[in-house]
Amino acid sequence: MKKTSKLKKLENSTQAYSNTERMPVLFLGHGSPMNGIEDNEFVQGFKKQGKQLSKPNAIIVVSAHWETKGTFVTAMQQPRTIHDFGGFPKALYEVQYPAPGNPKLAKELTHEVKPENTIGLDDQWGLDHGAWTVVKHLFPNADVPVIQLSINYTQKPEYHYQLAKQLKNLRDKGVLIIGSGNMVHNLRQVAWDKINEDYGYDWAIEADAKMKQWILNGDHKSLVSFQKQGKAFDLAIPTPEHYMPLLYTLGLKDDQDDILIFNNKPIGGSLTMTSVKFG
Ligand code: ZN
Repeated sequence: MKKTSKLKKLENSTQAYSNTERMPVLFLGHGSPMNGIEDNEFVQGFKKQGKQLSKPNAIIVVSAHWETKGTFVTAMQQPRTIHDFGGFPKALYEVQYPAPGNPKLAKELTHEVKPENTIGLDDQWGLDHGAWTVVKHLFPNADVPVIQLSINYTQKPEYHYQLAKQLKNLRDKGVLIIGSGNMVHNLRQVAWDKINEDYGYDWAIEADAKMKQWILNGDHKSLVSFQKQGKAFDLAIPTPEHYMPLLYTLGLKDDQDDILIFNNKPIGGSLTMTSVKFG
């Protein structure tokens, strides 16, 4: 009996997919949930990137909106569309993004990432707005399986960066990995009268500029130690959940990757939509 279960484990740990052309990695600044139904310059930016992507075998999203104690991956066959926000128009609550899940890939991740079972399986979550409001613009037909990987809020930034490195080989298996958050994200400081304007406070522009510089220079060390980068960063990242997805995107970067920065604008004073593509 023991032998059988061992064999089974081995089977599960073999890759679900054969080798493909290396997939790019994305960090998408998702901004307001309204980007799920609006057509604005940021949505146009997502759509433009979507058109340039070859169709992946599967998508893994690390969303700012799924924080857990421990790291989990969604493992259901059909994830629900989660409307995890309040006070928006009815039309936004009516959106469904019926992409299938991928239980096989989810299970594989629990073996791939070491130590074994660093990642646990989840059957409760689904696709939160950090995932579906952006993925739907990349793949409007919802015909690519999507799973989410949670952000373990008990862990330090370095954990997330290193965990992402362990997922790198999935890029060669046709898996598109997306970090979805916002590099500069301070909801307490939003200038609501300028929420639809291209407007950033000095500290927001300063932090965003430094982040972009470090991304372009490959200075991941400075980006991982964002908590030691001074006042502008403290204001830009008052809580880490919208920044953490960037650390996954950075960890997945390869030395040969081209770097593209797009949707590179501040809005409402204290948010930036800055998005990144490696590949
Ligand atoms: Zn968000």
